[in-house]
Amino acid sequence: MEAKILSGRDIASEIRLGLKNDVEKLKGNGVQPGLAVIIVGDEPASRIYVNNKKKACDEIGIRSFEYALPAETSEEEIIELIKTLNCDKNIHGILVQLPLPPHINDEKVLLTIDPDKDVDAFHPVNVGKIMIGNYRFLPCTPAGVIEMIHRTGIDLKGSECVVVGRSNIVGKPMAMLLLHEHATVTVCHSRTKDLKTVCKRADVLVVAVGKPKLIKADFIKPGAVVIDVGTNRMENGKLCGDVDFEEAKGVASYITPVPGGVGPMTIAMLMKNTVKAAEI
Ligand code: NDP
Repeated sequence: MEAKILSGRDIASEIRLGLKNDVEKLKGNGVQPGLAVIIVGDEPASRIYVNNKKKACDEIGIRSFEYALPAETSEEEIIELIKTLNCDKNIHGILVQLPLPPHINDEKVLLTIDPDKDVDAFHPVNVGKIMIGNYRFLPCTPAGVIEMIHRTGIDLKGSECVVVGRSNIVGKPMAMLLLHEHATVTVCHSRTKDLKTVCKRADVLVVAVGKPKLIKADFIKPGAVVIDVGTNRMENGKLCGDVDFEEAKGVASYITPVPGGVGPMTIAMLMKNTVKAAEI
């Protein structure tokens, strides 16, 4: 039997509808959520992400403030801007679109964001909170993935979950969220020996690597839930995931497409965090 498609597009649209109502309520209390997005340079992929975030803000009723800075902007200038935004009462969330140009230290910049306005949840204070399970903001991509897994109805308690990728923004927080849901979690990376065998024991397989079609049908346990975070731009301009979708859908019970899977969920979760920041 073919896997059911977990449409991030549909789930995200439901979530945005709910958030629109929350924003109406906030507005009734005299608060309109505001999100500041800082983009440095003219990387085309970053521009697409920023435009999509702005579109989502407009739909929900969040005010978005874009700061598009030239690639040669200094680290000090970005830090000064963030300090100003930290004090601005109309701004509830601050997001710095990554990657930043090489002369800028990402870590230093992210450290400047007020943790209460850190809607990406990248600040070490928020990362620490995720670690101990007492969080205000969930990191957007892992939060979107968890939401999609819940929609399958699978009981995560005691289930075998394998996360491929250990980045600070996806793999590590993803593993932590699954652990908080009482799953047995294995994290794989570039040095993992026999990736196929490890993946094959997963009831839930989350892949966040950035290598097109790395995961083939024979990596997947029959009936597993497969979540593909990978977003790879192919030579023909099309997007492709880390999972070989055509092969995997013959083995998995649920699978996310690329595009239209995790991507829209990430943006919906960013909106959720911004509304939450305004509520706080
Ligand atoms: P990183 O490059 O930061 O991390 C990639 C991870 O994959 C690393 O931990 C690396 O291991 C591991 N890896 C590399 N090669 C292999 C391999 N052959 N086998 C097993 N593991 C491997 O990427 P990100 O986490 O930032 O992003 C991953 C993917 O997800 C990208 O395609 C990105 O575009 C996409 N993405 C999508 C989002 C969305 O909203 N849909 C949001 C964020 C990311 P090691 O640590 O050993 O180097």
